[in-house]
Amino acid sequence: MAHVRFDHVSMSYPGGHQALLDLNFEVEQGEMAFLTGHSGAGKSTLLKLIMRMEKTTQGQILVDGVNLNRLRASQIPFHRRRIGVVFQNHQLLFDRSVFENVALPLRISGYSSRDLERRVRAALDKVGLLDKEKQNPIELSGGEQQRVGIARAVVNKPSLILADEPTGNLDPKLSKEIMSLFEQFNDVGVSVLIASHDLNLIGRLPYRVIGLENGKIIGERPPQTQEEAP
Ligand code: ADP
Ligand code: ADP
Repeated sequence: MAHVRFDHVSMSYPGGHQALLDLNFEVEQGEMAFLTGHSGAGKSTLLKLIMRMEKTTQGQILVDGVNLNRLRASQIPFHRRRIGVVFQNHQLLFDRSVFENVALPLRISGYSSRDLERRVRAALDKVGLLDKEKQNPIELSGGEQQRVGIARAVVNKPSLILADEPTGNLDPKLSKEIMSLFEQFNDVGVSVLIASHDLNLIGRLPYRVIGLENGKIIGERPPQTQEEAP
């Protein structure tokens, strides 16, 4: 079963703007793939549909076989908890420590403090920031802040990571480091879908690329094998 499946999905925003038109594609379990296209192509909307932050106007989306059109409001938080989301501008809170930023999704779920500490430290360890847990994120560099955002996204151990322009503000070296973090999670079986218009970065990586333009899929580059990889 595909991890994410789009079946003739269209989406119009209230007021009639057609953001996505008749999309059909799948993300396999354990696959890492890119979504690319100019600003306004529909990348964020597509990710928001998977999160069920927006609803399809036509067609259906299946995540782990579950039809999102049939999710009841009470099930949506559970659906979202299984997805780790990474944003370009981190959306970190500067009134609390790195530790508390990463702990946020767990506080909502009501973990005991021992379990919470263990999981927060495990997530910080994976992104290499264990020694920064007491600092305020404002004291960290842009790349470090993005890694805090990634730790927060994975602290619930999601099986799917969605990232929206995760390297948007970073230089090429830091961007590569962030990508290798996503690769680490993918290596242990997490499915990863990354929206990015950084063609330079995407071009050098071997993963499948889905191209969007004006809300339509205009092309796909299949995953590259070792020999083909640039
Ligand atoms: P991308 O992430 O590729 O830049 P978006 O998904 O943000 O694209 O936007 C796709 C289209 O939908 C754009 O034309 C955008 O203006 C429109 N759009 C995005 N969000 C909204 C909204 N909340 N209300 C109305 N139109 C929107
Ligand atoms: P938006 O404000 O863009 O509509 P939400 O209301 O869904 O987004 O999310 C509010 C905050 O919760 C965001 O700052 C986001 O970082 C965080 N968040 C939402 N879903 C998740 C998730 N699955 N994992 C981690 N953080 C999340």
